[in-house]
Amino acid sequence: MTAPRLDIDLDRIEHNARTLVKRLAIRGISVTGVTKASLGSASIANALLRAGVSALGDSRIENIEGMRRNGIDAEMTLIRSPMLSQVDRVVRSANSSFNTEIRIITALSNAACQTRQTHEVLLMVELGDLREGIMPDDLNDMVSAVMQLPNIKLAGIGANLACHGGVVPDANNMAELSALAESVENAFGIHLAMVSGGNSANLEWALSDEDPGRINSLRLGEAILLGCEPLHRQPINGLYTDAISLVAEVIESKTKPTQPWGTIAQTAFGTVPVASGSGNRTRSILAIGHQDVDPSGLHAPAGVEILGASGDHLIIHSENGNPAVGDEIRFRMNYSALIRAMTSPFVVRDHRTIGDRTIGDRTIGDTDNLIT
Ligand SMILES: *Cc1c(COP(=O)(O)O)cnc(C)c1O
Repeated sequence: MTAPRLDIDLDRIEHNARTLVKRLAIRGISVTGVTKASLGSASIANALLRAGVSALGDSRIENIEGMRRNGIDAEMTLIRSPMLSQVDRVVRSANSSFNTEIRIITALSNAACQTRQTHEVLLMVELGDLREGIMPDDLNDMVSAVMQLPNIKLAGIGANLACHGGVVPDANNMAELSALAESVENAFGIHLAMVSGGNSANLEWALSDEDPGRINSLRLGEAILLGCEPLHRQPINGLYTDAISLVAEVIESKTKPTQPWGTIAQTAFGTVPVASGSGNRTRSILAIGHQDVDPSGLHAPAGVEILGASGDHLIIHSENGNPAVGDEIRFRMNYSALIRAMTSPFVVRDHRTIGDRTIGDRTIGDTDNLIT
């Protein structure tokens, strides 16, 4: 089979999404399925929709346009502030967008007037993580300005934490968001349909005994695709952590000295790896590198150690004997490795369900075919 490739198990993604949708529904919280890490894959988007997400969210208008071209007519929201240069495209393809700048919302209004559409706007509020957001003291002025704009509907407010500053979503900042929603509603006599609490990092709070308050929506990507919560990167109970795996192929397999020889300076990527040990060691090269994946975000199968990587090569040592040229090795990934692999034109994306996956004869790391 072609390598490198991402084996994408749609049944497992659907299971993960459905499990989270159900657990959050009990708490009165709906899920926007975030598709940005999957490059707007229509197969993954459809798996999320089968699982019961209420909308799809993506940070790139290109992905939203791609999903539209593939016939997906679900509610879609742009979860990164639109660029001024893209407002026409945003109004055309997305039902709503997350915003923090009146100049951009005004441009959205103009674009929406031209095409006689209504574009929904959700205002992001800064709660301390210092990525996007209107300062809480400025929220009422912004709401007032947005309400003047034709063809714009204020859909709600939201916040994003644990992305830039690593600020943990907790009872305090979520109560602050709830209070802000209520204060806007009281000041303007309106109802905010959506109060979007945050991303996968909010799950610990959302599934705890804390009162969800006015928070009625979360935007989930990583937790669905990787089965992990991003605060401590722990597996989430009942979710698959191997819904997506990366397979790479061996192109060299030899026994060589453990230590390099000659004068040592910087490597292609700056750092000098320190090899421990002496004598000889088996080592193999896989045809995958920094250009395809973030090598530091790869989890190798048991018995396989990653020794280093360059642009196009990943060097490993296997305790289970040297794999043969042509063998495949399967890795799990963190978020950083996943988004780079999804974005590399050299990595094939293979969408399947468990039933139709043909397990390669010699794929090391397959749970069904582990070479030990
Ligand atoms: C990426 C992103 C999300 C989804 O984050 P995950 O950690 O993948 O769940 C949610 N909201 C915003 C604004 C984002 O940029």
